[in-house]
Amino acid sequence: MRYISTRGSASALDFEQVTLAGLARDGGLYVPETIPNFSAADIKALAGLSYVETAIKITTPFVDGAFTETELRAIFTHAYADFGHAAIAPLVQLDKQHWVLELFHGPTLAFKDFALQVLGLMFERFLDRSKQHITVIGATSGDTGSAAINALAGRDYVDIFMLHPEGKVSDVQRRQMTTVMAPNVHNIAISGTFDDAQALVKAMFNDVDFRARHTLSAVNSINWTRLMVQVVYYFYAAVRLGAPEREVIFSVPTGNFGDVFAGYIARRMGLQIKTLIVATNSNDILHRGLTKGDYSVGTVQATTSPSMDIQVSSNFERLLFDLYKRDGLKLADVMQVFETTKAMQLPADVLAEAQKLFTSFCASEDETALTLRWANQQTGMVLDPHTAIGLAAARAHKASADVPIVTLATAHPAKFRDAVERATGIRPTLPQKAQGLFNREERFVKLPNDVEAIKSHIESVLVT
Ligand SMILES: *Cc1c(COP(=O)(O)O)cnc(C)c1O
Repeated sequence: MRYISTRGSASALDFEQVTLAGLARDGGLYVPETIPNFSAADIKALAGLSYVETAIKITTPFVDGAFTETELRAIFTHAYADFGHAAIAPLVQLDKQHWVLELFHGPTLAFKDFALQVLGLMFERFLDRSKQHITVIGATSGDTGSAAINALAGRDYVDIFMLHPEGKVSDVQRRQMTTVMAPNVHNIAISGTFDDAQALVKAMFNDVDFRARHTLSAVNSINWTRLMVQVVYYFYAAVRLGAPEREVIFSVPTGNFGDVFAGYIARRMGLQIKTLIVATNSNDILHRGLTKGDYSVGTVQATTSPSMDIQVSSNFERLLFDLYKRDGLKLADVMQVFETTKAMQLPADVLAEAQKLFTSFCASEDETALTLRWANQQTGMVLDPHTAIGLAAARAHKASADVPIVTLATAHPAKFRDAVERATGIRPTLPQKAQGLFNREERFVKLPNDVEAIKSHIESVLVT
């Protein structure tokens, strides 16, 4: 399996290279050159398999020999061994039509653990073969940082520098990052917003010397391997609800378009997904894009679902690549214009094609709070605000009664317990394992929003 760039001119990579790479050299994102097909019989054969065995079946064609089946089994088994639920991704029924797929039983209580736990182990195995050292640099609004740090802490051949906006992540999120004392973990609080942090990271990647000198690598969802790992739970859930004989609808709380793009890949692989619902908070660029073709950047609004407070959804480019019939050079032009004007009007044919695959919904803060209350009063479940946005979208969607609608529960409610308490009056408790967070010492440095200051900090840490 080869991986090609959405902008048509970077060289193709194999699975090992695409796992370790971030952005392609032409500024594009990597996607598989061909999408493997699972027949109805292949999907039927997934029935009854454990989560780990399902993961091996789904990822084998993408991994394409870079790991043996035995190695893959060891990686997935180890990655999910500490999850707080034996089913790894339990499917919970809310009412006749609605289900919730709980993706928050990992060590940092958000779905990002699914992919990052696996990515951390794959990094280590690849780097152990080449004896190469890499420096992971990332920016986080909270969940990616905690999941990446947990996955990479103490691993050989990797240092991780994680930038978060000072004072703008929840206390649970911050402590999940800053109480990790492994010597290869380096937290930086910057004075600024998440967008500032992301711009700093981008600037470091664009410094070719710096990038090469420290072998920079990325773990945000522009990393293909993260998306590949997330494809698994779409199959796992759909098979439990009757695939390939019965269709399923998924509603996905969306920020960077990574998770829902994994659902799109599952569907292209042959899974019976009737509709993918893109659920956004008031940062609604995707909703405007998918309803009116107006994909233009606004200013970020802070909401109770901060992990979705995003204006530019990087992975949308991967979908556009397919909608532009995989014409990378054409898309490179389109993206160039978008990057300078911060706006894009989708052509009518592209929009029509997108609307065959996706519907979208934007939930206001009031609707989010109402849905948190509804779920608690009608079903007894305490959800988190991101999941509530997915459920609000699912409940607003008109579908025939015999098609189950699965909302992805992307975070544990205790991770956002202040917002949950305000909406429901219930303060969710942290799972036992996370309760020590508030007794541990924190370690991080504070730096200004200045790329030179951050680069010199990183260099000084790496030489000692
Ligand atoms: C990251 C995140 C999302 C958004 O996922 P994308 O892949 O960026 O669309 C939604 N909910 C939670 C809790 C998250 O951490």
